[in-house]
Amino acid sequence: MKKLEVEEKLSKIAKNIKSSIIRELLKYSTQPGMISFGGGVPDPETFPRHELAEIASKIVEEEYRITLQYSTTEGDPVLREEYLKLLERKYNINNLDLENIVITTGSQQALDLIGKIFLDEESICAVSSPVYLGAASAFSIRSPMFINVPLESDGMNVEFLEKQLRNLDEKGLINKFKFTYVVSNFHNPAGVTLSLEKRKKLLELAWKYNFYIIEDDPYGALRYEGEHIPNIFKLGDIEHVILLNTFSKTLCPGLRIGTVIGDKNVVRKFVMAKQSADLCSPALTQRLAARYLQKYDIFEKLSRTLELYRSKLTTMLKAFEEFLGGIEGTDWTRPQGGLFTWVKLPENVDTMDMLKIAMAEKVLYIPGEVFHIDEKGKNYMRVSFCLPSHEEIIEGVKRLTKVVKEYQKKSR
Ligand SMILES: *Cc1c(COP(=O)(O)O)cnc(C)c1O
Repeated sequence: MKKLEVEEKLSKIAKNIKSSIIRELLKYSTQPGMISFGGGVPDPETFPRHELAEIASKIVEEEYRITLQYSTTEGDPVLREEYLKLLERKYNINNLDLENIVITTGSQQALDLIGKIFLDEESICAVSSPVYLGAASAFSIRSPMFINVPLESDGMNVEFLEKQLRNLDEKGLINKFKFTYVVSNFHNPAGVTLSLEKRKKLLELAWKYNFYIIEDDPYGALRYEGEHIPNIFKLGDIEHVILLNTFSKTLCPGLRIGTVIGDKNVVRKFVMAKQSADLCSPALTQRLAARYLQKYDIFEKLSRTLELYRSKLTTMLKAFEEFLGGIEGTDWTRPQGGLFTWVKLPENVDTMDMLKIAMAEKVLYIPGEVFHIDEKGKNYMRVSFCLPSHEEIIEGVKRLTKVVKEYQKKSR
């Protein structure tokens, strides 16, 4: 009998799926003595567990007909209603109704559905370079052509994008161009924020060339300093901008609740595509989030979290200055929010290759090349400051500095 080989049976899409290096790496983060700057996950101490526990018990007992039942594909109407109120209160985003919102199983599902809805092999889309890994993998499996737009300290290089679009237009390919994906605030992995000027410029391009802007904004509410910049969605119009959000970074990722806000026709497509993915997101966690939003002011609750992350970020930037700054050719972003800094090392450093030394020195980061479709970023690394303690941050940066020096000595 011939052996059944998985590889022989796989679909084109399955062949395109790569395992996440981040998930592989994070297995090492639990080794004793390891200081990990790798995880992009919130500090569990910030989860409002007592509040959620109380609500959870109540909604299972009293609302079991809803919470333990199938939900609608669009999502719990109570949650959608509450979320729209929150958008109005916090971001002055109004004039939306329930048909403009669909709840997804985390933002990750929204990204996956975007791939399904918009991308064929001959499609073209634009992403930043570096790019959020979750988006890159959700889009990549559809095998579109990517325009990799360089990321700068004030967000993606919009002029670069404009040139590429003009080029596509001249070649008669502009109708193949579907969307530009942007993480507008405190980019993952780079920590940078798209400036107001660039937001407006990007919108002008979207109007001129008629494409969608996918604005992914998980970190907008995690601002530690500086002025809030209005969302692209707020500056633009619902016809051209699709706004993704999630409770993962502001409440807790275990809920697996993301939101998609867009034009009714777009939302309808999301709902249809979601039907075949999971029928509906969990009714239990949706109602849990809804009742939480009704009972508490999520932003007031968040203020302690912001305080915690702000101080950790300060500690990290100081430690960079003190230790890493001594190595010529190093630089890093100074984010005003979010969970990440993006560290540039001298050109001759390959952060993937350097990992083995880092492991031996018991410090962990995510190599920059992971966040690239265009095979760049080899001398960069993503460093998260939200999980380790202040002491661990300082010690971890000391170790990182030692690792880089050791690597340079070896490769000389
Ligand atoms: C964390 C994060 C998300 C959230 O993903 P979930 O599936 O909602 O947990 C989405 N986009 C970016 C850029 C992120 O960093």
